[in-house]
Amino acid sequence: MIHSKGTSLEVWLRYANDLGLGPYYHDRCSPQEGRPVATESFVESPAAFQPAIQPENTRTQVKPIAMPSKNQSTAAAVAAKSAAQSLIQAPAATSLFEERIANDSLQLIQEAIGHNCTRCKLHKGRTKLVFGVGDPKADLVFIGEGPGHDEDIQGEPFVGRAGKLLTQMIEAMGLKRQDVYICNVVKCRPPENRLPEKDEIATCSPFLLRQLGVINPKVICTLGACSAQTLLQTTQGISRFRGEWFDFRGAKLIATYHPAYLLRNPAAKGEVWKDLQKVMAHLGLQAKKRQVAASS
Ligand code: SF4
Repeated sequence: MIHSKGTSLEVWLRYANDLGLGPYYHDRCSPQEGRPVATESFVESPAAFQPAIQPENTRTQVKPIAMPSKNQSTAAAVAAKSAAQSLIQAPAATSLFEERIANDSLQLIQEAIGHNCTRCKLHKGRTKLVFGVGDPKADLVFIGEGPGHDEDIQGEPFVGRAGKLLTQMIEAMGLKRQDVYICNVVKCRPPENRLPEKDEIATCSPFLLRQLGVINPKVICTLGACSAQTLLQTTQGISRFRGEWFDFRGAKLIATYHPAYLLRNPAAKGEVWKDLQKVMAHLGLQAKKRQVAASS
């Protein structure tokens, strides 16, 4: 495929970002170029983007990989879509879902895992198994990679610094934490907060897929590369398909950066907010309004 200069540059910048050479891709985007301004807090950021929110229709109109929005410049949008399409095909069938359990429930899944699961080596350093929290009928599910230190102690996902930022993100979307469901690919903390390894993901992720089957959300928002790569069955870097829509078992799936990444790279918050806006548009959500101080 022959790329234009602009397209080639974008592809190389995305590739460099995948290699961890960024975040200059984000840093090079000035507000004057129409890029969103990264903010320190997701609670304040909605106002900057509210005009872009347009409710979308139902999931019956969702395509496997969504077309770029009307407002995207055609060259960049087509390049991004083309790159994502050529790199990733969402799984057409899932063997794990084919073995669906009749009358499955979150309680049954919890019982199946047990309190002292030793199916993979992650059990060795575990304090508490972190199953997941939130509305069992949620329209929106957030999926991270695995529990960290605070989550391991408390037995609840996303309760540390990254968790607080996720809560801000959720609230910026006009929701409360209890309105969504939050879980991880693996349910026990990987040592030293490393990424879950292949065998651990293969052993534990069937429980995640059962959870998704029971909750049956409209939108799945994966946080970070691990959960996106697990569900989409790809090894491609997240920056190549972040913000694109995929069909996943009747739900829409969108990948965005992990809140822990945002703590290290606040400049990427604007990109994540754009992704969350897409989710909001699909679910018909309104951004949280900024509180205006009383004049008297
Ligand atoms: Fe069991 Fe999952 Fe924990 Fe591994 S990560 S020990 S499979 S619950």
